[in-house]
Amino acid sequence: MTECIHDDRPRSSAATPSGRMLIAGTPTVGDGPTMYSRNPSTGTNLEPGYPAASAGLVESACRHASQAAVPYRNVAPSERATFLDRIADELEQRREKLVTRARSETALGVQRLQGEAGRTVGQLRLFAAELRAGYWTQVRIDPAQPDRAPQPRPDLRQRRIGVGPVAVFGASNFPLAFSTAGGDTASALAAGCPVVVKAHPAHLGTAEIAAEAIAVAARDTGMPPGVFSQIVGEGNETGALLVRDPRIRAVGFTGSRRGGLALLALAQQRPIPIPVYAEMSSVNPVILLPAALAARGSALGEQFAASLTLGAGQFCTNPGLILAIDGPGLSHFIDSAATAVSDDPGATMLTTAIAKAYQTGSGRTGGLAEVEVLARGSRPDTAAGAAAQLLRTDAGAFLGNPLLHKEVFGAASTIVVCDDLVELVDVLAAIEGQLTATVHADADDQAAARALMPILEDLAGRIIFNGWPTGVEVGHAMVHGGPYPATTDSRSTSVGTAAIERFLRPVAYQDVPSALLPTELSAPESADVPWRLDGHMQLLAHSREDR
Ligand code: NAP
Repeated sequence: MTECIHDDRPRSSAATPSGRMLIAGTPTVGDGPTMYSRNPSTGTNLEPGYPAASAGLVESACRHASQAAVPYRNVAPSERATFLDRIADELEQRREKLVTRARSETALGVQRLQGEAGRTVGQLRLFAAELRAGYWTQVRIDPAQPDRAPQPRPDLRQRRIGVGPVAVFGASNFPLAFSTAGGDTASALAAGCPVVVKAHPAHLGTAEIAAEAIAVAARDTGMPPGVFSQIVGEGNETGALLVRDPRIRAVGFTGSRRGGLALLALAQQRPIPIPVYAEMSSVNPVILLPAALAARGSALGEQFAASLTLGAGQFCTNPGLILAIDGPGLSHFIDSAATAVSDDPGATMLTTAIAKAYQTGSGRTGGLAEVEVLARGSRPDTAAGAAAQLLRTDAGAFLGNPLLHKEVFGAASTIVVCDDLVELVDVLAAIEGQLTATVHADADDQAAARALMPILEDLAGRIIFNGWPTGVEVGHAMVHGGPYPATTDSRSTSVGTAAIERFLRPVAYQDVPSALLPTELSAPESADVPWRLDGHMQLLAHSREDR
């Protein structure tokens, strides 16, 4: 087994990529083949090279995470909150370097990346506040009833604890908000779980800078070193080793359906299977009802095109399917959307591989006999350049060809024209589970909208009225999840404070002596957490958000 090759260069000063991963707080040079991120505009390698992790380094990261699991779980929630806030501070300090490096690695715009940096910092602070508020603990106490007949009732106390080390796969399309210090990492660390990140190969330098921020925060707030590691790897094997490692207890992933399903299969084949929370594939249907179309068809067309082409369409919430009932206003919608897509200058996608997949996927659907190509935008002359595409078909053709149901990752969308609501419902019944479903409806559409609601509840994790699916608010009530294949587990969300649920599990303590119980169970009033006594919520002395 290969051990870590430690590098004792200073940890906190550089914020400049140096080609190292991070094992339990120590910058570490890998011992495998050297990998490079590429500039998607030029297709050229970006320095420095990153020697990949051997099996020994993956094992080392998991071992350190396992050693940190119990100590970190027992760190008081308020101290974990301080740790998360400190990561946010350290990211802020490195913000310009993160944005500059991410720009060269992803071709995403500076404004977009600045927004993403703000979101990343904001969600860490939100989880810190959530930890302090304490709702996540869900303490339940059913005191003993020794005199109950015919059987006495035992004393039962329940709380939730972190599941243990979590493997997080950085997402190609969110180098900050869904990668090293992104939502999966923030929610797992909040839950009290050590994290081992597999950096996305497309943005290794960004990943290194973000990992350094976490390492400095962990060191300065006294967290166990194994609380965070980041490995880099060439090809599928590194990620597979991570998921197979017996010390890993859950997986967070955003990416392709093929990748998510491969990781799910690996997790299920382990001697001890573990949950995989994979967010994978969604076309995010947008339904245009007749009165809304008649009232504002042109405006809707422009708004749709803006949502479609945002960030080269590289959002999991990209509107890839429009379902419209034929009638007054539809031609205005189509004309304005087609004009906007034709005028779109195109964009450089995240990687040349993603651009190639887009080219193949959009070319395949665009070449079908049963579709009409309404518009194609321009394609910039860059290595990963791509042009937006808008297609039109009818409900019968859509129902007859499953290829039209599949996500084409990028700025490609299909308008399916339906004769009436019945046909539109048939189309909805035929499509797969979704992250979002959007309805544009005016007052005269209310009856149709009401009829659609139960169908949309079954279909998607988030239902949007008179808006667009791109742009995911990070808050307490958000659901960024949905039935398969949007995710592998529709019971959870990967955005918002409810994301912490994925990495917690309940433990009940029956007749356990008070001295052995954690304070929130032995004396919940003094721990100042919300709790239920015999099922009844106990009111708090003061507003928790004031703290
Ligand atoms: P990906 O190919 O699924 O890869 C994501 C991460 O998972 C990478 O770190 C990858 O590492 C790892 N991985 C993938 N397959 C694996 C396997 N079989 N075993 C172990 N690890 C595996 O996604 P991507 O690189 O981001 O982009 C490829 C395609 O994914 C896009 O063209 C797009 O279709 C889709 N995508 C969808 C979304 C969405 O939100 N719907 C977001 C991003 C991407 P290695 O490559 O090193 O194994």
